[in-house]
Amino acid sequence: MDMSLLDMAFDNGMAILYSFLVLLALGAIFAFLLCLFSVVFKVKEDKRVGEVKKLLPGIDCGACGNAGCQEMAEKLVSGEVKDPALCRPGKKEKNFDPILLYLKEHPEPVYEEEE
Ligand code: SF4
Repeated sequence: MDMSLLDMAFDNGMAILYSFLVLLALGAIFAFLLCLFSVVFKVKEDKRVGEVKKLLPGIDCGACGNAGCQEMAEKLVSGEVKDPALCRPGKKEKNFDPILLYLKEHPEPVYEEEE
C-alpha cells in the first residue's frame, strides 16, 4: 500500500496532537493531585513562633545552642526553653522582656483563621 505525502503528514500531525493531549491530561491530573494534597496535608503553623522570632535579634548566630533564631523561637513557644536570655546577643529590654510578655499574653497556640 502506497501512502501519499499528505497521508503521512496527517498521521504525524495526529501523533503530535495525541502526545500533546496526553501530556495536557497528565499535567491536569498532577495539578489536581497537588492541590488535593496541599489541602489534605496542610500543616497549621502557630503564629506565635513568627512573632517571637521577630522579637529575637535575628542574627542566626547559634550562640543559644540552636541552629538559628527560628529554632530558638520554636523552643520558646513550646516551652522547651524557658529563658530567652540564652540568646547571647539579645538585650533584656529590647528582646527578653517583650518575648516573655508576649508569651504571657498568648499562652495558647494562635492559628490563622480559616478562609
Ligand atoms: S543566640 Fe539569639 S541571635 Fe543567635 S541564633 Fe540564638 S536566638 Fe538567634
